[in-house]
Amino acid sequence: MSLLDIKDLTVRYGGIGALRGLSLRLEAGELLMVTGPNGAGKSTLTKAIAGLVKPQGGRIVFDGHLVTGRAPETVAALGISMVPEGRQVFGSMTVLENLRVGTGMRRDRLAAAADLEYVHDLFPLLKERSHSQAGLLSGGQQQMLVIARALMTGPKLLIIDEPSLGLAPKVTDQVYEVLLRLRQERQLTLLIVEQSSTRAVLTGGRMVMLREGGIVLEGDPRAIPARTMQQAYFGIEDSEVTA
Ligand code: ATP
Repeated sequence: MSLLDIKDLTVRYGGIGALRGLSLRLEAGELLMVTGPNGAGKSTLTKAIAGLVKPQGGRIVFDGHLVTGRAPETVAALGISMVPEGRQVFGSMTVLENLRVGTGMRRDRLAAAADLEYVHDLFPLLKERSHSQAGLLSGGQQQMLVIARALMTGPKLLIIDEPSLGLAPKVTDQVYEVLLRLRQERQLTLLIVEQSSTRAVLTGGRMVMLREGGIVLEGDPRAIPARTMQQAYFGIEDSEVTA
């Protein structure tokens, strides 16, 4: 059984079809990169999984539980943690207070304390800056903080929407180093959204490319020819491409 099994998912905003019968599976421990141009439906997919938008059709099964249309807190309690686009730290709270928000729902206090140690080991800077105001951190540091906060919920699946947005390539590399370490050390299942497939090629794992609410390309990003990627991304037929 897949950890996440999405079948025929349809989401519409008024008359706009954001997802049109999308089906997707994610195995435990897998890294899935979801790419695609503006408006392809990537964020909508993450929001539908996390319970933030209600689908009009289809089903989402996570870890054996039907979660379609369930409330975000129910989905989170089952082990899905989502880092939305735009790094929403609680700016006036300290770094440590932000991390403690992540443990708010947990009953396993000992495991939560161990996770705080692990997160501090992953991001030593967050330990150093424990008592600094989170709003004063740089963009890259805030991205690390929201990922760390999501980890503090003890998730089985971590979803991150465009972690590279607004970050310098070098800082993005650092964020991805940590994500790959997490996957290796904790076998954490990751679903990461990035607009460009270049990051998927650098990172590896499996890629699905969305366009106009459906999957147009799927596979090992390192094995897909660049030209095929471009055609799928821009929605152009072979005959339209000039050599
Ligand atoms: P981006 O990279 O620009 O965030 P995306 O691939 O994440 O794009 P979505 O944000 O999921 O795409 O948007 C899919 C479609 O749904 C687009 O046509 C978008 O304009 C529309 N859409 C998204 N959110 C809303 C909303 N709250 N109300 C109305 N339409 C929306």
